[in-house]
Amino acid sequence: MPHAGRRLAALTAALALSMASGTVSAPAFADPRETERTATATGYGGAVSTVDPEASAAAIEVLRKGGNAADAAVAAAATLGVTEPYSAGIGGGGYFVFYNAESRKVGTIDGRETAPAAMRHDAFIDPATGKPYPFTPELVTSGVSVGVPGTAATWERALDRWGTLSLADVLKPAIKVATRGFVVDDTFRLQTLENKPRFAAFTSTSKLFLPGGDAPAVGSVFRNPELAETYRLLAKRGARGFYRGTLAAEIAASVQAPPKAPGTALPVPVGHMTKADLAAYRVLDQAPTHVDYRGLDIYGMAPSSSGGTTVAEALNILDPLNLTEMSKPGALHHYLEASALAFADRGIYVGDPAFVDVPTAALTDPRFGKERLCQIDPRHAATKPVPPGDVASYDGVCPAAAAAPAIERDTENISTTNLTVADKWGNVVEYTLTIEQTGGSGIVVPGRGFLLNNELTDFSAVYDPTDPNRIEPKKRPRSSMSPTIILKDGKPFLALGSPGGSTIITTVLQTILNRVDLGMSISEAIAAPRASQRNAATVTAESEFITAYGSQLALYGHQLVPAGAPSTSAAEIGAATAIEFKSDGRMVAAAEPVRRGGGSAMVVKRSR
Ligand code: GLU
Repeated sequence: MPHAGRRLAALTAALALSMASGTVSAPAFADPRETERTATATGYGGAVSTVDPEASAAAIEVLRKGGNAADAAVAAAATLGVTEPYSAGIGGGGYFVFYNAESRKVGTIDGRETAPAAMRHDAFIDPATGKPYPFTPELVTSGVSVGVPGTAATWERALDRWGTLSLADVLKPAIKVATRGFVVDDTFRLQTLENKPRFAAFTSTSKLFLPGGDAPAVGSVFRNPELAETYRLLAKRGARGFYRGTLAAEIAASVQAPPKAPGTALPVPVGHMTKADLAAYRVLDQAPTHVDYRGLDIYGMAPSSSGGTTVAEALNILDPLNLTEMSKPGALHHYLEASALAFADRGIYVGDPAFVDVPTAALTDPRFGKERLCQIDPRHAATKPVPPGDVASYDGVCPAAAAAPAIERDTENISTTNLTVADKWGNVVEYTLTIEQTGGSGIVVPGRGFLLNNELTDFSAVYDPTDPNRIEPKKRPRSSMSPTIILKDGKPFLALGSPGGSTIITTVLQTILNRVDLGMSISEAIAAPRASQRNAATVTAESEFITAYGSQLALYGHQLVPAGAPSTSAAEIGAATAIEFKSDGRMVAAAEPVRRGGGSAMVVKRSR
């Protein structure tokens, strides 16, 4: 989210003006330093990193009031639902990972959206043509791609399981921001304009995000009193207020009969979500994935996300190697090749474990990784796509022949947001949440102030009974979200995560390698230019990465292509957040210094 610092500075000015006219309450920021964008903050007593100063300030406010990391993470997430409504909110889902300082254990909550019970295998086939709906605009802007949201239930479960405050308490900062508003910056306006044709297709969405027919002007204060009211409903009734009763009925109605504006040309295929689907939604308490990488305990998100297994497998592949002593291009070559191999296995083996038998143990087994390492030629990039490994029989010894390559279409989008929080007791949260596309399905539930997701587009579009990510009713589509917590000697060392669709996996992996193997500080590891090899013929990379390593990696046979058009957000890969825990007790909160305009790192008590 670009220009967050400017957004906040402008907010203070705008609020000062509107306070004079008595229309808004006082700004949340007592400490002027907190109105500035800060990529790195070091100190004690708790820390947070998000993409947005409002959200980070909400977490700090809760920590200062005595809340713990789980409380503060929900406060930050709810605030992101206000200030980053196109990336995250109660209309979507996500994965919440918690390190419990008391039990010294990592636990996770799978709050992924689910397919409605009436979703058929051919839901993405246009009955009019018998052919798959085009991804854009049909599938993306539709009722049929809306999954039953998991975020409200995730917040409630996280607080029940690990929190100390009530949902009502932790929603207060977000309600405050939604009510007093935030100042629109270039990004918010740009994202609104990019979505204008589909936002205009819905009466509810255009009313909220296109007031007067245009995207809100940069510098104006954007308020969302309807979302504040929805949050108040959750504060009063808990997640039941979302999954049962009037709001649930309205969500189902918005999916079954999207509130289309008269005359819109967009097709908007309808969905089949019912009130019963909402009532039946459950988050899942999950054991994390675990892998030992160079003596560090790396905990990630188990399927239905492919994040944990894919990061773990790539680390297992690399573990026998000494990347530190390799040349930089040599180390990067191995990073890219390990990632391609892990993606080959992700494609063929990972889906919702409630529906398919996911070989999580094998995928995270160091012997499997060692065997996959046999496929890496230290001097030459393999022809992509590389074939998957055989999880049914492996022994850590190089196999004679390989199976046929798997090719998959990568349609995951690059919206989403990620946050990291730690408290003074040593609890840590890594939380990635999303509504999938920037702007989700484009459908605002009328009068409720939030967008519904289009997460079901993460299913494979074409039904194949052998595909672990095939569409099935009540199933969770495969995700790439990779919230990761790393322990060293049983204590937190690093927590990190990122948005970015399937590049989330490579961003988390590359950042770990940068920090652990390549001698960078956590801030440098996040700032470093990125490249992403997802078992494709080419490596997508940021332009700085191509400038720095393109010609050297070409000698290995890697073909690097820019991730997106220059100067667009698509040219950037990820927007990571992290906290590193120093042995002297200091916490280093790290956010992006540049990508998406820079994030916001804060600590409760600053030190050097
Ligand atoms: N839908 C994606 C996933 O679950 C996230 C979208 C994004 O990060 O942009 O992996």
